[in-house]
Amino acid sequence: MTAVATAAHLTDEARVLGLCQQLLEELPPKETGAVEFLGRQFDLGLGWVHFPEGQGGLGLSPGLQRTVNETLLPAGAPIAAFRNVIGHGMGAPTLVAHGTEKQKARYLRPLFTGEEIWCQLFSEPGAGSDVAGLATKAVLDGEEWIVNGQKVWTTLAHLAKWGMLVARTDPDQPKHKGMTYFVVDMEAPGVEVRPLYQITGEAEFNEVYFTDVRIPDEERLGAVGEGWRATLTTLMNERVAIGGGIPAKGAGFIAEAVKAWKDGGHRDTARKNELMALWVRAEVLRLTNIRASQLRASGTPGPEGSIGKAMSADLNKDISAFTVHLLGAEGMLKPDGYPMARPKHAMQWTNPQQAFLRARANSIEGGTTEIAKNILGERVLGLPGDVRNDKDIPWIQVPRS
Ligand SMILES: Cc1cc2nc3c(=O)[nH]c(=O)nc-3n(C[C@H](O)[C@H](O)[C@H](O)COP(=O)(O)OP(=O)(O)OC[C@H]3O[C@@H](n4cnc5c(N)ncnc54)[C@H](O)[C@@H]3O)c2cc1C
Repeated sequence: MTAVATAAHLTDEARVLGLCQQLLEELPPKETGAVEFLGRQFDLGLGWVHFPEGQGGLGLSPGLQRTVNETLLPAGAPIAAFRNVIGHGMGAPTLVAHGTEKQKARYLRPLFTGEEIWCQLFSEPGAGSDVAGLATKAVLDGEEWIVNGQKVWTTLAHLAKWGMLVARTDPDQPKHKGMTYFVVDMEAPGVEVRPLYQITGEAEFNEVYFTDVRIPDEERLGAVGEGWRATLTTLMNERVAIGGGIPAKGAGFIAEAVKAWKDGGHRDTARKNELMALWVRAEVLRLTNIRASQLRASGTPGPEGSIGKAMSADLNKDISAFTVHLLGAEGMLKPDGYPMARPKHAMQWTNPQQAFLRARANSIEGGTTEIAKNILGERVLGLPGDVRNDKDIPWIQVPRS
């Protein structure tokens, strides 16, 4: 950073700190409802500081969001990302990059406050890693689109007001070119949400069926046939939302392992070495994510977001496995059993056994670790590309089961 840039950063930081102070004085978090607090945080531009003014931001460097979080959270402020994980991490940046002014004004504030939950309707039974192969179709009928098809693994669809939907609007184009991105009202007639149970016993995600669902054209995000561009924005932000977290040193998953160690259990020198190695990996990931967030000058993550995604998936699995081993026989049984539950939040852990089971999904959700490695190989390291035989032929001609 040059001296001028450093001075500008300090001025921006002082401005951000001043606004944080104003917010805490106006609405002490411990005496204020979460929606009211977050609404004011958004209006002051402290929602996502790198977003434009009037859209929850101040047009500043995304690195300054840490300053906001480190000032507000210790004072007891509610965590917007926790209340609406998919909307916050993926919906909002996609809206800002591709939405109309009207859409941004309509959706961003209630998304940030958590009054309107969002879900992501990308994966289908025949299109997961190859999401561009999706088959849910949308056909224009006057000023509305009629949508038919099925999505799967849709996290929090049971709570969502809005869904980020990608559908095929031109089957005669190659797969990446014939898709369009919509915001769909999950309460519209013809949307059916069915629970899907996970290994934990909970149904955090769902199948979603669309039968003649009508979406007004003004809820289209981006141009017709240009859905892949907005899809990439969502996916790149998703990797960072899942794997790019910057907890305090020693916090997060690794804190559970340290706590289990301190509480006793099957401890020996070998396990102590293992714990130390895991702690070091957690710290390396944390520092890697700090560096990545500081390099992200424009706020739009690039392919390097796949580093944190892949590393955190492996690490979470290893830490949670270590913790249940430490618990011995007790680690084999979930203390709260396997009751069918419909969680209000995604990717949370309630006890080490549940965390162990839930972490298995980390290398699948948000793009598998194999796909993350493909992205890193091709787009960061410049290695030869994956085989893509169907890239240039019309989607309709691609054989599918
Ligand atoms: C807990 C959880 C929550 C989820 N939430 C959502 C959500 O809210 N919204 C949503 O749209 N989706 C969601 N997903 C779906 C997720 O994005 C997909 O499961 C994921 O992209 C993989 O797709 P797939 O399951 O169809 O597997 P497939 O794509 O069929 O992959 C099967 C296996 O083949 C490997 N593979 C596939 N292609 C390649 C390749 N080119 N090179 C190397 N290996 C390859 C994969 O890595 C994997 O091991 C969620 C998944 C989970 C587990």
